[in-house]
Amino acid sequence: MKVLIVASGSRGNAAIFEAGGTRVLVDAGVGPRVIARAIEAGGIGGPPHAIVITHAHDDHLGHAQKLARKLDVPVWVSEATARVARLTEAPRVRVFGAREPFAIGAITIAPLPIPHDAAQVSLVVEGGGLRAGIATDLGEVPPGLADHLAACEVLLLESNHDPELLSRGPYPAHLKRRIASARGHLSNQQAHAFLRELSPRTHTVVLMHLSGTNNAASIALEVARDALAGRAVTLHAASQSTPLLLDAAAPPPVALPGAPPGARGAVDQLRLF
Ligand SMILES: [Zn+2]
Ligand SMILES: [Zn+2]
Repeated sequence: MKVLIVASGSRGNAAIFEAGGTRVLVDAGVGPRVIARAIEAGGIGGPPHAIVITHAHDDHLGHAQKLARKLDVPVWVSEATARVARLTEAPRVRVFGAREPFAIGAITIAPLPIPHDAAQVSLVVEGGGLRAGIATDLGEVPPGLADHLAACEVLLLESNHDPELLSRGPYPAHLKRRIASARGHLSNQQAHAFLRELSPRTHTVVLMHLSGTNNAASIALEVARDALAGRAVTLHAASQSTPLLLDAAAPPPVALPGAPPGARGAVDQLRLF
C-alpha cells in the first residue's frame, strides 16, 4: 500500500491511499489542482476512486463537493458528519457508521470516533495485507485508540502544537483554549506520550497537522524522536505544501546497536517537489 500525503495542516488536509488498484482520498481540504499536481509528480497510479471525509471542518471537507463532481466519485462521511456537511452537489454520498468497517474496492476502512469539536474519526486503511492509520484532529487520546492503530505499519499522527508556543503566541484566548482542550488538537507532548507506547508493528510515523503558528517541524520531530528512542522507526513531519509519498511495504529498518535515539531507517522515503 502506498500513501501520498498531499497536504497536512490547518490550511488544508488531503492524503491518498492506494492498494490493489484502488485509490481513496481521505479528506479534501485542498483543491483539485493541488491534488492533481501531487498525483502527476508520481508515485501513485492516478486520481482517487472515492473520497472519505473524517469530519466537517473546512480544512478537511472544504473542497469535497467540487472534487467529487470533477472526478465523478462518491463522498463517504460518517452519520454525524452527514447531518451537518453540505454535500447536496456531490454526485453520490455514502454514509458509514463511526465504528463500522466498510470497503471501497480493494481497500477496507475501519473508523473509530475520537474527541474533537466536530464528530471526528480515526481511520485504519487496509489494503494488500498492509495498514496505515490516521489520527488527527483529536484533543486527547481516547481509550481504545492504541488498540485501533496497533496493527498499522504506517501511522499518521497529529502533533499540532507546542503548548509553550501556543500560550505565548498571537491567537486570541478563546482559540488557545479551544486548541488546547480535550476536544481540540493533540500537542507534541501528547503525541510523545502516544509514541512511547507505539505498536511494535509500526515502522513509519508521520507527524501531521502541524500548526504553522504554534509549532515547528524541528520541534515536533525532536519531541517525537525522544519518544521513539531506541526504536527503528522512520519518522517524518508532514507539510502544508510539500507532498510526501510513503510505502507501507517498506521493510522495517533494522536498529543498529548504538544508533542515535530515534534513528531513521535505511529506507529513504521519496519527497516530492
Ligand atoms: Zn483539521
Ligand atoms: Zn478539525
